[in-house]
Amino acid sequence: MRALTTADMAHLFRALAQSIAAARDELCRLDGVIGDADHGIAMEQGFGAASKAVDALPAGATLADQLNAAAKGFLNAVGASSGPLYATAFMRAAKAAGARAEMPMNEAPGLIVAMAEGIRSRGKAETGEKTMVDVWAPAAAVAAQGMADRLPVSEIMARIREAAAAGADSTRSMVATKGRSARLGERSLGHVDPGAASAAMVLDVMANEWGKHETD
Ligand code: ADP
Ligand code: MG
Repeated sequence: MRALTTADMAHLFRALAQSIAAARDELCRLDGVIGDADHGIAMEQGFGAASKAVDALPAGATLADQLNAAAKGFLNAVGASSGPLYATAFMRAAKAAGARAEMPMNEAPGLIVAMAEGIRSRGKAETGEKTMVDVWAPAAAVAAQGMADRLPVSEIMARIREAAAAGADSTRSMVATKGRSARLGERSLGHVDPGAASAAMVLDVMANEWGKHETD
């Protein structure tokens, strides 16, 4: 099996920055309905800064160095509540990846589990509260289960993508109880949570990047 290298990680952040930038207006529109309409800008700036920080690292930087640089870049660029949430996610992933130049690809789902745990512990939201946790938690659950069952990474990534999309969609029928949109109460019903929508996009890119190398 192919390894997950620092070149792959740098490529992932470029792909994330590109996809999220393309979704900026859509994410701002979603946040405009139940929040303050800045989520697309926050995510575009966050992932843009994260990718730049990763690309600016000297040769010899490890996977942990890359993910810690991404965390710092994201945090410094984003004033909105998604800033510390994703920064913590990347710091947890850095710890899981370790000071290695590459890691076995079958450990990659563990990075998604670590990110989800970081978001949970930083934001203290549970599933059902209409946040990005409604995407990260089910994605992490299928990632952990897939690793326990020793499924092929491509299969785990396909399940992660599915769980993330379903999680984002499920927020439509939830009443927000965390974050800015909690103020709306029942009026948040019927709308997809912007942070959940962007989380599904992030996981879609990660699953695409990490699921495609299986037979390389
Ligand atoms: P802000 O609400 O500060 O403007 P953003 O617009 O960038 O921040 O992000 C809003 C998203 O952040 C929400 O849609 C929700 O998914 C997520 N969010 C808010 N609070 C929390 C929390 N405590 N835990 C997890 N996610 C949260
Ligand atoms: Mg907002």
